[in-house]
Amino acid sequence: ERPMKTAVEMSNMMEKTTSHLWNAMHRHNPNAQQTVGVSGEGSWFTDENGNKYLDGVSGLWCLNLGYGRQEIVDAATEQMKKLSYFPLTMNHQPAVGLAKKISELLGASYQTFFSNSGSEANETAFKIARQYHSQTGNPGKFKFISRYRAYHGSTLGALSATAQANRRVKYDPGAPGFLHVYPPYSYRSIFGGDPEESDLKAAQMLEEMINWEGEETVAAFIMEPFISGGGVIIPSNKYIQRVAEICKKYNVLLIMDEVVSGYGRTGEMFGFMHAEGVQPDIVTMAKGLTSGYLPLGATAVKSEIYDVFNQEGKDNHFRHVSTYGGHPASCAVALKNIEIIERENIVDRVRELGETKLGKLDSLIDHENVGEVRRVGFLLGLEMVKDKQSKEPLDDLKMAEIVGKCKQKGLIIGKNGDTVPGQNNVIIVAPPLTSTEEDLDFIVETVESVIRSL
Ligand code: PLP
Repeated sequence: ERPMKTAVEMSNMMEKTTSHLWNAMHRHNPNAQQTVGVSGEGSWFTDENGNKYLDGVSGLWCLNLGYGRQEIVDAATEQMKKLSYFPLTMNHQPAVGLAKKISELLGASYQTFFSNSGSEANETAFKIARQYHSQTGNPGKFKFISRYRAYHGSTLGALSATAQANRRVKYDPGAPGFLHVYPPYSYRSIFGGDPEESDLKAAQMLEEMINWEGEETVAAFIMEPFISGGGVIIPSNKYIQRVAEICKKYNVLLIMDEVVSGYGRTGEMFGFMHAEGVQPDIVTMAKGLTSGYLPLGATAVKSEIYDVFNQEGKDNHFRHVSTYGGHPASCAVALKNIEIIERENIVDRVRELGETKLGKLDSLIDHENVGEVRRVGFLLGLEMVKDKQSKEPLDDLKMAEIVGKCKQKGLIIGKNGDTVPGQNNVIIVAPPLTSTEEDLDFIVETVESVIRSL
């Protein structure tokens, strides 16, 4: 009789075979070689065969401080020893401290509701927006507008705000009341003109849409400052400012999805801070909030909006709860993560090295297959085309070849876009914000040599 295996032994076995694991985004491919991550240090991870890779996409754009920071591990351990769990129907110190810190970082007074992920942070924002309007005399304001190409998460509400046909088509119809508007995508824009003019026309479409739908029906507009999952689309700052003005004019709440762009990724603490004078009504965050060490989502809401949920003598409270949302260990990790980001001047570092190091990839624009190089801080996209005239997306096989060759050389990069549904012709580079100068040189040399070898 064979002895029973412990849970750890079982999970070790499963890691080796992966036969019972349903991988995210898995599609049938008998030749696929699964990478089994075993350990990580800085920007590098090691697989079960001892191969080392530079993680050029920070996991899923979340490892802002990279792998293996002992200080963060200690913060989680100490918190778990002290108070392993506590619900946020009451208070615990790490959550109170973190909410205060988030408000400070956002540059105005915000109240934060915690959850476990970016999708949940956005779901929470949608519910708050609808309830806010219904409690301020506008119960008809229930619609949400987002942009085509945006990604806002995988749960049904967040997926309904996501506007990439490829990700939605098998799960539609989504939640009612979600509308999509043309994005500020100057490279392929139907508007023509220079990028700023074209972006401002995209903003104008939002205003037209609000008018045509009836402003009394629109609750909120959700946007990432820089569309990441939909092909790294970087609008001019004027676009963000104009959109903020439009939202204000029509009493449409501006929800800024900072799940990817928050915590230094773009060379500001938050992406919206590139656009002077913009102060979103709601800011959602996850990923870089804990640098991926533990799950945590956050929905920060301007205090004057929160006040509507906290009125004397009225039953106006937010009827929403999450068992694990704002877990004490996750909040302790987030606080330590932010402390390190500030102590090590990560935001300035990203702004500087984004220019001097990743900026070297701008020179690839002379290559026939590179349509546009788009970048901000440590977030970079190369839109790959068959040729510059037709702008036809580079085909899947060639895109897979680029990603595969980089991997052979020890660099993990990504591809996304959904430029034409299902066609991911944008190469993604988004390394940990602590990547050394040598790491960044390695990324630039590898991407450049692989693309020039096409
Ligand atoms: N919002 C944006 C902009 C994202 O990129 C993502 C995930 O990639 C999400 C929301 C959803 O986050 P999560 O996967 O933590 O639910």
